[in-house]
Amino acid sequence: MWLQPTSILVRLLGIKVLAEFIGGCGAGRLYCALQPNGDVSPCVFMPNLTVGNLRETSFMNIWHRSDVLVKLRDRNQLHGNCGLCEYRFICGGCRARAFAYFNDVLEQDPGCIRNSQYQKLKAV
Ligand code: SF4
Repeated sequence: MWLQPTSILVRLLGIKVLAEFIGGCGAGRLYCALQPNGDVSPCVFMPNLTVGNLRETSFMNIWHRSDVLVKLRDRNQLHGNCGLCEYRFICGGCRARAFAYFNDVLEQDPGCIRNSQYQKLKAV
């Protein structure tokens, strides 16, 4: 019987744990972005949010100790509607969009239909 890697993980972890781990935005959780000058940011869409530099410290040190990256891994720290949303563990919103609008990676994602009331308020 042929098993896909995700099938093995589902058997080991359960579908809920796996979905919450791989679900939604992976910035700082599943990937990050590296700049030619050594700067590290949570995602390619946040090039102006530097969480460390590879010419000054190791990647593992940045990956494990950056306050921003550690916060991004805890969906219970999200603010606004994203922090209250029942889908936060399988979605979590776009952290780059939240950062672009609010200068805070933990803020609610203004691009989500569940935040449309906020968008109307901001448009006035
Ligand atoms: S409010 Fe929208 S963007 Fe935020 S976690 Fe819920 S579904 Fe995702």
